[in-house]
Amino acid sequence: MSEKYDVVVVGSGPAGYVSAIRAAQLGLKVACVEQWIDDKGAPVLGGTCLNVGCIPSKALLDSSQKYSDVIEKFSKHGINVEKPTVDVAAMLDRKNKIISQLTSGIGGLFKHNGVVVLQGRGKVLSGARVEVTNGKEDPSIVDAGSVIIAAGSVPIAIPPAPINGDTIVDSTGALEFDSIPKRLGVIGAGVIGLELGSVWKRLGSEVVLLEALDTFLPMMDSQVASESAKIFKKQGLDIRMGARVTNAVEKKKKVSLSYQCSGEEHTEIFDKLIVSVGRRPRSEELLASDSGVTLDERGFIYVDDFCATEAPNVYAVGDVVRGPMLAHKGSEEGVMVAERIAGQSTKLNYQCIPSVIYTHPEVAAVGKTEQELKADGIDYQSGVFPFQASGRALAADDSEGLVKILTDKQTDRILGCHIVGPSAADLVQQVVIAMEFGASAEDLSLMIFGHPTLSEAVHEAALAVSGHAIHMPNKKK
Ligand code: NAD
Repeated sequence: MSEKYDVVVVGSGPAGYVSAIRAAQLGLKVACVEQWIDDKGAPVLGGTCLNVGCIPSKALLDSSQKYSDVIEKFSKHGINVEKPTVDVAAMLDRKNKIISQLTSGIGGLFKHNGVVVLQGRGKVLSGARVEVTNGKEDPSIVDAGSVIIAAGSVPIAIPPAPINGDTIVDSTGALEFDSIPKRLGVIGAGVIGLELGSVWKRLGSEVVLLEALDTFLPMMDSQVASESAKIFKKQGLDIRMGARVTNAVEKKKKVSLSYQCSGEEHTEIFDKLIVSVGRRPRSEELLASDSGVTLDERGFIYVDDFCATEAPNVYAVGDVVRGPMLAHKGSEEGVMVAERIAGQSTKLNYQCIPSVIYTHPEVAAVGKTEQELKADGIDYQSGVFPFQASGRALAADDSEGLVKILTDKQTDRILGCHIVGPSAADLVQQVVIAMEFGASAEDLSLMIFGHPTLSEAVHEAALAVSGHAIHMPNKKK
């Protein structure tokens, strides 16, 4: 007889492990099913984010930024370093140690909170039951009061460029190159393409990004997107827009890639090729035919505003449901669902989810873009402040980019904030807090910001909304 749990979570990524811990904190008996195993057969916790996504990419972004600073910036500060070199193996080793530290940390938190790990592949059956198959024992069926599906997403593959795991890789393979590719091709100039392209560019690769769309970062505010494009081009990222890849094949350990652009056919030879054209929900083989859980036409599990599926007591959170594929969005959905299962009435504000691209400088956003406000016919005002006018940014030799705040013209309520610049990820969070409290630009203007800080750029952008920024000439309002 298998055990009965109050909650069974399928998947231990940021959406799954957070919901499992929160449910356990609320006194529920929780199991978390995870299929990923290491080479010793032990479950690997943390999902894409910790193992092959956010954390390892940030480790390499930080390492490569340090190298780039030595090459590009140190001498300006009066620090001279003779011929720095890169030890790729040591860099990857550091990254892997961070992953181990964090994933074993989740194991520790599970133990502390009494969350049981069930190793195997979970399949949701009717009546809120989960079948767990691990290939070692007979499949077991676990009864759950409630099921939370947090199965995540996988990279999208495209037929013209099949992944071979060596010269043509997805985002996972791009974290494991054992040497610096001389010429690196990247299909897709989205979040992953820009982050991983930046890593290898800083380490010395010549990087060409091929983007099918004509508009760069269409989900970002268009002013911030075009400012970002200028900065990335200056850094040497060769971003080719309107490029449709038609074929990529390995030839003599290199990749021969063909693409069409403005009606012309082009061919490029690369040492490595990263395919980063988006991710899709991992919803295949996850649901029994009578589970009662339904998928939309793109394979996302259909859920309501509270992440309830169409099957009673079955919820789904994170990348496997609608909305942006962001770890923190999944985690907060996980918390909401755990608390609702425990009888609370937690809600999420989907209008206030920050997003970040961890290039240097970072690109960060929350709320509406200017083009969305225009399309929605909303009467708005904007305040823009360039980091060129920030004393702290100049002192740090990191003064590219801007902060832009958008407000409702009648009420002055903040509707969005868009930043490209140093520490944009952390700066935008200040505006997330302001927006959650329904703040106006005037509210931010009246707050005291420490000097000298990068945060002053947020303050000045808020002041600029009403045309009285201090440290730049204001536009007539
Ligand atoms: P993405 O959607 O950000 O970018 C993919 C890009 O590839 C798009 O610009 C698209 O137009 C382009 N594209 C699609 N097919 C193409 C083709 N055949 N040829 C050329 N270009 C093509 O997807 P991603 O960068 O793969 O990231 C996947 C998901 O993971 C995203 O939802 C992203 O938000 C998330 N993610 C987030 C972070 C972060 O928060 N910092 C980091 C990594 C990934």
